[in-house]
Amino acid sequence: MLIVQKFGGSSVANAERVFNVANRIAETYRNGNSVVVTVSAQGDTTDDLIEKAKEINEKPSKREMDMLLATGEQISIALLAMALEKIGVPAISLTGWQAGVNTDSKYGIAKIKRIHTERILSELDAKKVVIVAGFQGINKYDDITTLGRGGSDTSAVALAAALHADLCQIFTDVDGVFTTDPRICPDAKKLPEITYDEMLELASLGANVLMNRSVELAKKYNVNLEVLSSLKKVEGTYVKEVTKVEKSNVRGIARDNDVAMISVLDVPDEPGIAFKVFSMLAKHNINVDMILQSIGREDKKDISFSVKSDECEDAVKLLSENNIIEARKIVYKDNVSKVSIVGAGMVSNPGVASMMFEAMYDAHINIHMICTSEIKVSILIDREYAEKAVRTLHEKYNLDK
Ligand code: ASP
Ligand code: MG
Repeated sequence: MLIVQKFGGSSVANAERVFNVANRIAETYRNGNSVVVTVSAQGDTTDDLIEKAKEINEKPSKREMDMLLATGEQISIALLAMALEKIGVPAISLTGWQAGVNTDSKYGIAKIKRIHTERILSELDAKKVVIVAGFQGINKYDDITTLGRGGSDTSAVALAAALHADLCQIFTDVDGVFTTDPRICPDAKKLPEITYDEMLELASLGANVLMNRSVELAKKYNVNLEVLSSLKKVEGTYVKEVTKVEKSNVRGIARDNDVAMISVLDVPDEPGIAFKVFSMLAKHNINVDMILQSIGREDKKDISFSVKSDECEDAVKLLSENNIIEARKIVYKDNVSKVSIVGAGMVSNPGVASMMFEAMYDAHINIHMICTSEIKVSILIDREYAEKAVRTLHEKYNLDK
């Protein structure tokens, strides 16, 4: 098999951990597999580099920033190659450039366009473990680019796609993907498998297991992903297109505290109002998530919507300062949370949503907004009840069983 393995920054934070990782790789290699590895910068290296830059220049050019940040991964690939050498496994480290990782030119948030795999393939032919620097590539000007924070996940998935790998293993410091955040709900269970779409929705679980773009990429190229612990030797969670357990409707509960709710009260009940409100927000790059519009009464109506917490102030200011919207009042609430039930099997099961509302009723939790999609139902509630809601729903849908 051809396997791509990715190890995050904390998994290679010090010499002992580098050797731990080397041993995991050696095991896979000695089982007769071809192994391509990608690693992040050690521990907090990337943050430290950002600090270093600030000491010199508050606003450095993005090109130089990428030049600097890419050094973190160069350290870890060299150290890991040395560790493998030491335990008798032939290995070679390659920078993004050497590995043929071509990106667009957007420094700091570059997207991988193509990977020229010749070099990697010839090193694999020579029976070496190939260690590729994560998070980095090269653009058409031959300049180093980086892929955005957490970008090594994306490097791993892109390598797996380009090499047609049989499996892409993402090693982290958690055991896999859980039914909900185990810190909120000790009964949370590790999921044996999950679909790409579910994974994308559950990304907000707080465990921060995978960079969103890597999951999108895995879905697009149908890469078999496994999320597993770098410390414990147990099976992790497989992320794939379809999963066996289609019966279970709800697969996980997500909570997002990074939300605020804004209400525009008593706007004229006439065509074009929603357009005015949301086009103005869009023009200023404010993303709106849930939307609720009341039915008209006496020629007036209300529009409420949710945004990310740090965009609340700007949004309120924008709407109040621009009198193209005749509203009596604009109010906001920033002590809210979004709690969602997620599951691919929900589409064909109409009772699922009402169970959620029943559970909230039983727990005396008031719902401000509701939003549904094919595989998710989200509610907006007061933040003080968010953790209780997560636990209540976890039990309601028997996720602890
Ligand atoms: N080292 C980079 C970061 O800290 C990339 C990564 O960790 O995936 O964001
Ligand atoms: Mg990192």
